[in-house]
Amino acid sequence: MTHQRRFAMKKIDTDKALPLSETRFDDFLECSPDPVMIVDDRHRVLIVNRRFETIFGYDRSEVIGSSVEKLIPQRFIHHRDNAGGYCLNPEIRPMHHSGENFALRKDGSEFPVEIHLGPITTAEGTVVVATIRDISEQKQNQAQLEYLANHDSLTGLPNCNLLEDRIGQALLQAKRFQQQVALLFVDFDRFKLFMAGLSHDTGDRALKKIAGRLKACVREYDTVARLGDDVFAIVLANLHESADAGKVAQNVQKNVLRPMEIGPRVSELSCSIGISIHPKDGKDGRTLLKNAEVAMLRAKEKGRGCFQFFTDELNDRIASHMTMERCLRQALENQEFSVHYQPQMDLRTGRMIGFEALLRWQNFDLGAVSPGRFIPLAEETGLIIPIGEWVLRTACMDNKNWQKAGCSPMAVAVNLSPRQFWDPGLVDTIARVLDDSGLEPRYLELEITEGLVVRDVENALAMISALKKLGVQLSIDDFGTGYSNLSHLKRFPFDKLKMDISFVREVTHDPGCAAIAKTIIALAHNLNLKVIAEGIETEGQLSYLRLRGCDEMQGFYFSKPLPSQDFERLMMEGRSLQFPEQSEGRPKRVLLLVDDESNLLASIERALRQEGYRILATTKASEGFELLAKNRIGVVLSDLRMPGMDGIEFLSRVSRLHPETIRIAMSGYADMNMVTEAINRGAIYKFLSKPFENQALRQNLAKAFEQYELSLARHYDRT
Ligand code: C2E
Ligand code: MG
Ligand code: MG
Repeated sequence: MTHQRRFAMKKIDTDKALPLSETRFDDFLECSPDPVMIVDDRHRVLIVNRRFETIFGYDRSEVIGSSVEKLIPQRFIHHRDNAGGYCLNPEIRPMHHSGENFALRKDGSEFPVEIHLGPITTAEGTVVVATIRDISEQKQNQAQLEYLANHDSLTGLPNCNLLEDRIGQALLQAKRFQQQVALLFVDFDRFKLFMAGLSHDTGDRALKKIAGRLKACVREYDTVARLGDDVFAIVLANLHESADAGKVAQNVQKNVLRPMEIGPRVSELSCSIGISIHPKDGKDGRTLLKNAEVAMLRAKEKGRGCFQFFTDELNDRIASHMTMERCLRQALENQEFSVHYQPQMDLRTGRMIGFEALLRWQNFDLGAVSPGRFIPLAEETGLIIPIGEWVLRTACMDNKNWQKAGCSPMAVAVNLSPRQFWDPGLVDTIARVLDDSGLEPRYLELEITEGLVVRDVENALAMISALKKLGVQLSIDDFGTGYSNLSHLKRFPFDKLKMDISFVREVTHDPGCAAIAKTIIALAHNLNLKVIAEGIETEGQLSYLRLRGCDEMQGFYFSKPLPSQDFERLMMEGRSLQFPEQSEGRPKRVLLLVDDESNLLASIERALRQEGYRILATTKASEGFELLAKNRIGVVLSDLRMPGMDGIEFLSRVSRLHPETIRIAMSGYADMNMVTEAINRGAIYKFLSKPFENQALRQNLAKAFEQYELSLARHYDRT
């Protein structure tokens, strides 16, 4: 060994050799923190240091004189002439060189190394000094970082980075073997509701379970990735038939739906899945993912727990979306917008007290596009800011001009979308528009949807206070749909609540909606707010809400939204809302008859002719609701067996919608179960079995009306 070293040292050319004594060279080698070896031009090891012995596990006597191949994993040996760090031939690589590779320990284990090679020319040829650094730890850290960058930390599933990579690989393979690849976009239904009330830990555990269930549905070489809270993607590689993707989707849905024990409760969770197939629906990962997401949204529209393949029709939808966006960008400039106005009426006086500005868009290619379609797009693209300002300006100018023309002054209500609301320039814009138009601030009302306020209460409060300082009025639109926390509501300086159209639509026949409507009215009044019902279309809806204290209405029953000229005419005419009772005078005793047999209705009417009742008769329960809403009915006489809605359901709804009425059931069958149920549900006061004596009928009805009047009198005594 020493011989070898001396030999090597002696061979080093004196000009270029380091000016070191033999012992100092020894020291130099030994104090290097990394393994060092010197190799001759035939790849034989001449010298190694102590660190080399520690790291490689060899005693130096075992390597000196041997070929370096002993230290290199077998798989690199064939091409060592061009394998990075192992190219020792100075003719090929005469320069100093560094590289990464793998080295082999005595025990046969491999480890990653960084090698620096420095050729030194001696009189007898060239030797190479190789400094070898063990980079196992560095590699491990790097691998850990790479793992973190490519995986979801909670579930350990690949994230979107790695997904892109995996899709890329699957597509390459598919092209080579002419196969298909499916991408499943999985989104859980009502996930927020599912997670609500779960602790952080329990929520995490649930997510891990979900991830496990998804993985269990696919083959080993398929990929399940997590893209967001409740959003996952599945890549199905080398697919034979696209229909197989549907089977996997069904399987995933079935597996996911199994009841899941989380914390103290057992819950069920469903998911919606959209599927895109390569090459049909996209040539690259990005397009496939986008199209699968579009298909997923369509699946959601179908209901919970459905799946949907991407189709040409969906493709058209995207295309039309893009066309619409292009047109929308030019709409302001091309003057394609107009504002229609819909009157708002006072339910006490019947007079108009305000109007809402509703944007209309007429495009040459697309025709009339409804706000329900283009407002969300304007919102998404940010175009709502200039468009919204235009609406505001037009509405304020029009209102001011009508006031100048002598119409009685009233407020114009303008809708604000979320993006407008959060726009830092909003307050300035409104102030400027008011200034330019000369409209007094109190004649401008801003409608803000309930959902907007709920999401970020503190900031919304600051924004709304700033708006209120301008002196404008504020109303909360579509109330009842945004799940507001009622305790927050009283902190906001609103002037008016707009009851959502969905309650108004059902108010006369759905006790649930009626209860909500009544609650909204009571709530608004408790908070000193006015309440307006929007979307009133029938006399029944109007009377029902008016009699229950609703202050104002807006809806087709009085007028549709009108182009400004038509609206101006309506204002000038000063037409007001007529209430049914005012024109008719109120009859004393009103009886409602409901029976699917019109003969029977006619015979009852005949029997009661002398009684002086006002009789309203119908063969349909649905019409019965409308009549009840429009008229102050005292007694309801209804058959129990009817097609469509049966009498029990009808009467029990009536008992909740109009608890003051006296309800009598009649039936031709001695169906005791039905009668018992009706009584137990508090739905009926008396039961008459068919056929009945006319005299008995008259007596019973007279008693029922007395009962009704008695309870009304008690009610008025109390109030
Ligand atoms: P919204 O603010 O709740 O407006 C009321 C909607 O109900 C209007 O629909 C109106 O035409 C409709 N409506 C009124 N009475 C009845 C009725 O009796 N029956 C039925 N079925 N519908 C009735 P429209 O004009 O289609 O507007 C839809 C939504 O688009 C509005 O809902 C509002 O959120 C938004 N929108 C309209 N114009 C603008 C605007 O200038 N800016 C913003 N940001 N949003 C607007
Ligand atoms: Mg509105
Ligand atoms: Mg509304």
